[in-house]
Amino acid sequence: MQNTEEIWRLADAKKPEFEALSDRVWGMPELAYTETRSCAEHTAMLREQGFRVTEKVAGIPTAVMGEAGEGGPVIAILGEYDALPGLSQEAGVAEPRPLPGPGFGHGCGHNLLGSASLLAATAVKDWLAANGLPGRVRYYGCPAEEGGAAKGFMVRDGAFKDVDIAISWHPAAFAAVQEAVSLANTRIDFSFVGRASHAAAAPHLGRSALDAVELMNVGVNYMREHMPSDARIHYAYLDAGGVAPNVVQPTAKVRYLIRARDLVELRRLIERVRKIADGAALMTETKVSSKVVSGVSNLLGNTPLERAMQSNLDRLGPPPFDDLDRARAAEFQATLTEEDIAASWRRIGLPMRKGVSLCDVVVPLEVRGAPMMGSTDVGDVSWVVPTVQARGSTYAIGTPGHSWQLTAQGKLPAAHKGMVHVAKVMAGTAIDCLRDPALIEAAKADLAARTAANPYEPVLSPDVQPPFDMSVTAA
Ligand SMILES: [Zn+2]
Repeated sequence: MQNTEEIWRLADAKKPEFEALSDRVWGMPELAYTETRSCAEHTAMLREQGFRVTEKVAGIPTAVMGEAGEGGPVIAILGEYDALPGLSQEAGVAEPRPLPGPGFGHGCGHNLLGSASLLAATAVKDWLAANGLPGRVRYYGCPAEEGGAAKGFMVRDGAFKDVDIAISWHPAAFAAVQEAVSLANTRIDFSFVGRASHAAAAPHLGRSALDAVELMNVGVNYMREHMPSDARIHYAYLDAGGVAPNVVQPTAKVRYLIRARDLVELRRLIERVRKIADGAALMTETKVSSKVVSGVSNLLGNTPLERAMQSNLDRLGPPPFDDLDRARAAEFQATLTEEDIAASWRRIGLPMRKGVSLCDVVVPLEVRGAPMMGSTDVGDVSWVVPTVQARGSTYAIGTPGHSWQLTAQGKLPAAHKGMVHVAKVMAGTAIDCLRDPALIEAAKADLAARTAANPYEPVLSPDVQPPFDMSVTAA
């Protein structure tokens, strides 16, 4: 207890620098794999705090790792800093007001995510130094969480191979241990090639690639009735074959995003979607080829680590929000529907309390909400290293993910308080592991048991390269 409190004091001692880091990254929103300035900010902070820095982890220009300490177990704390397109918004303003510029914004709170994780790693480094204990702490600055699956490429490259425990978090409405439920997914581009011709004078000579994509989509939409209810399939046209209706479209490209509860189910669905693509090519006498763009695994939980993290949360209590924070959060709640707010309570599994704008509790470990239907590349890390994640309370209850309201709240005092709070939770959990080898052993045994019947087979095959240009189309 005494030492765990020391770690909280160490986190508090450095909070101004890290709140400022978060605000700077908020002010330079960069999309997946183009986070040059944000990564440079994190790299500079790692150097300033005395970490040994490795740049371009796994050959990714915007991935960075800093290590401190000697010998002992290796604890990794994972951060992110990528932003999203279409979510630019003035800070602190409770009405839609995009800033001038390309329209990017931190609508998922990754400015806070990276800074809190780096603060936690710094506090652990300072704790190791103060106590003269063996052990290493690493901060991994991971780019492109939004669809780029960077952590999957980092896992494939062996970036975590000597890591004993991984800890991370995500901004949320409530302070809790993250329930390890997410969907495995993959993005696959299907390209069809046909033959151009005059659509009126010689239609019989043309073979339409656009027809092929349309038939593929119809086929997949019919398949929906016959797939697991928690699987998800979405698609977007990348190339509709041109703008002239009187030219039979010789090329067309569609991006499929396929999600399933686990890797086994995902592989089955991919196989079926591929058959439908082949069928569409057969029907239209076109040719189809495909390219896997990215993919992530579902998350695996870790019971011993989740218990350790919960114990830190229970001792720490909810974030220290005040009446002013609650009043500001209420302004944002006024822009939401009753349904948005109810959904937030349902997701966390607590009965709704009207008039509560910010989290004022620590959610007990046994409380289970509606399962998360999104995906995260932390999933791949969780298959190779025992991993635990927190939910840090940084915004008004009911705020939808990927919304202008979320961007707007990213620099408020409540966001800073939630960020420092969750940094303490992560740092405390790391210290528990460093002080107790039995906890690390139990966490490893838990992971071994979860993967015994079903060993890790990544979605990313060795020939898939990180999609460094993926944000060009988004921009
Ligand atoms: Zn996110």
